Formats: sequence, C-alpha cells, structure tokens
Amino acid sequence: MRITTAAKLCLLFLISQSAFTQSSGITVVKAGRLIDGKSDAVKNNVIIRIEGDRIVAVGPNVEIPAGAAVIDLLNSTVLPGLIDAHTHVLLQGDITTEDYEVQVLKESIPYRTLRAAKAMRTSLMHGFTTLRDLGTEAAGYADVDLKKAVQNGVIEGPRLIVAGLAINATGRYLLSNRDFAWELKMPKGVQEITGIDEGRRAVREQVSYGADWIKVYADQSYYQLPDGSFRSIQNFTKEEMQAIVDQARMLRKKVAAHAVTRDGVLYAVEAGVSTIDHGFALDDDCIRAMVAKGVYWCPTITVADYVAEGRAQAGNSMNKSMLERLPVVFAKAHKAGVKIAFGTDAGGFDWLAVNQAREFGFMVKWGMSPMQAIHTATTVAAELLDMKGQIGEISPGAFADIIATNEDPLKDISALERVGFVMKGGRVIKRE
Ligand SMILES: [Zn+2]
Repeated sequence: MRITTAAKLCLLFLISQSAFTQSSGITVVKAGRLIDGKSDAVKNNVIIRIEGDRIVAVGPNVEIPAGAAVIDLLNSTVLPGLIDAHTHVLLQGDITTEDYEVQVLKESIPYRTLRAAKAMRTSLMHGFTTLRDLGTEAAGYADVDLKKAVQNGVIEGPRLIVAGLAINATGRYLLSNRDFAWELKMPKGVQEITGIDEGRRAVREQVSYGADWIKVYADQSYYQLPDGSFRSIQNFTKEEMQAIVDQARMLRKKVAAHAVTRDGVLYAVEAGVSTIDHGFALDDDCIRAMVAKGVYWCPTITVADYVAEGRAQAGNSMNKSMLERLPVVFAKAHKAGVKIAFGTDAGGFDWLAVNQAREFGFMVKWGMSPMQAIHTATTVAAELLDMKGQIGEISPGAFADIIATNEDPLKDISALERVGFVMKGGRVIKRE
C-alpha cells in the first residue's frame, strides 16, 4: 500500500506528538526506601516527581500525572547522587613519582583529557554526580574544558567544580629538578609563585581562565620526630598564603589547602582556607583550630591506603606510618566536631581499578555511623561547595541527581560500591 504525502505528514505528526508526550519532562521515581541526604530517618514508599532536570515533589502521596515516565525502584534504597570533594580527573593513579612523571612527560594533554573523560564516566556510573576537582597537575585548564563538555552534553560525566592549576611555592613541587638533569627546564604540576604579588597574580589569572576554586599546596616533605609526631615543611610564607586567600575571597572564590601536618594546617587555617585536604597527621591544635573556624576536612583515606604499601616499597614509608595512625586521628576529629566532607583523591588512585565509594567503608570502620558517612558525601559536601539545596539531597528544587542500590547501605556501607541506578539532572544514566 502506498502512503500519500498527507498521510506521511500526519504519521510524522503523531510520532512527534507521542515522542513529545514521552519526553514531556515529567518522570516519577517510586522509591522503596529513601535516604534523602539530609535527614537521619529512612522513609519507605516515597514518590519523587521530576520535571526537566529538577525534583519538584517528594512524598508518599505525590500525584503521578498521566503520561509521566515511571521508574520503579520499590526494591531499592534510593539516595541523592554522591559528591566527591577531592579528585583529579586528569590523573590516573600515581603511587610513585615515576607513575606521575610518565603521565606528565609521555602523555599529551589531549590524551590525558581523553583519559579524564573515561575516568569521569566511570565515576558517574559509580553514582558520583558531582566532583570538586582539585588541580590538573600540569594539564593547564583542561578541567575547564571537561566541565564545559559535560555542560554541553559532549561527554557524559559528573558536574565538575574545578581548580585549574594548583598553586605552590617556587621549587616545591614535581617535576623536581632534583630528579632530572639540572639544565633541563621541566614542566611543573602546579603554578609556582614567590611573593605576595605573584600569589595574587596567580589567583587572578586562574579565576580569569575559569577556576571555580583555588587549590594550594600548604606543606610537603613529611617526616617523623622521635616522639612519633609528624611534621613537614610549609611551602609558602604566611604572607604569601594570606595574599592568596585574600585575593580569592575578593573574587568570591574559596581556597582548598593540601596540608598534612600542623606545619601546613595551622597557617592555612589561620589565613582563612575553607578546606584542609588530606590532614593525615592532624593533631589537637589543628583539630581545635579547624572546629573554631568551621574549616572542612577532606580526609582522602582511600588514597592514603592505596599508595602506602607501594611508596614504602619504593623507599618512602612516611605514608604507611601516617596511615597506621589515621584511624585514631579520624575518630578524634569526628568526635571533636570537625566538619568532615567526603573526598577521596581519586586520580591519586586509578579510577578504573578502585571505586571511590570505598572511602565510606573506612569512615564507618573508624567510628562514623553509616548515615553520618553518607551525609559527608551529600549535604556536608554540598554545603562546602555552597550548593546546599541544589545537590546532595532529594527534595523539591534540587537537581534530579538520584542513585539506587538493591542492598541496604545502612547495614553494609559497601553497598554504595554497587550502585545499580544512576540519574543525573533528570536523565537516566545507568539502570541495571
Ligand atoms: Zn589531591
């Protein structure tokens, strides 16, 4: 039978109409158990209504409009998309200095960016819908491009909040000329500065290129005193650190400080940074200062665990010694009321080999309740990113970033390493 042109047009119209109905933008998720990211209570049989990229209603009696796409997760525990507040999408694991050098010296920035896209996809499939990415490590502003590529739908990945290049003091970072012929001019993993003016210039420059956060390396060169305490060398002068933080603040940006011992933590907190990252050797003074100033801690336990053995075998046992003490440090900081935000340093470990959700297991083993651990990757991390109400919670107005697992993460937190459903901004990314 021949179809007339008019009939064809009519058919096309009907198809487009039905496509319109199906993608009318209204989706309903039926959640068997809901952990909403904010409250301590688990709610049963909750309906989540989504329009476009946002959640518009949550509750037991939310109306399901005709034509809405219905997603049945009645046999699952549903949670907000997870947030990792310390990652490096442009790194793919660096246990040793050599691992780092290979990536910086033998891989071009375009190649590293392609690897980053794969890492981001992996992360999203694991349920992480937002990452604060803290430094490209010699890959310029490729993170700004990756963020743009996600926003424009070029690649599939988590929302990125980026830092561009981290900042360190001259001569205090890889690639170190100590490891290469001195006449070579080695690329640097960071932007190096000396002096207040260069600190201010670096911040202004980075923000102009699209950095959302400023990342500084506050200390390096860790060592242990005979009494067992850990120390390090502070990288900046107090004045340089203050200038960086002041300039960032002037531009309405916040500063994240890599700081491991009191030598890095105390002057960074004093200067006004918003997060202490790693902090493996926080002592009582550090904990007190952080609580007093409301500074967040991203403990990055997963990376500490990942690199300890390999670095010890390569002749540096400092990470291993710090890891042995970390459970005590963690319990102390938690008990004292330090705001602990989920941050793993993914990229410091291999994205494809280790699920960053492993971090939850350490937190629970070392004293947090499973619900507290979940909150570090939901509302606490959202607050630190100034995105409260937008991400990290399942409530009206928030982005429809939703994940689910068939197991109960409150009974076994490792269930979060087996996420079977991922929705980001109202779009289903994964459904097993
Ligand atoms: Zn890091």
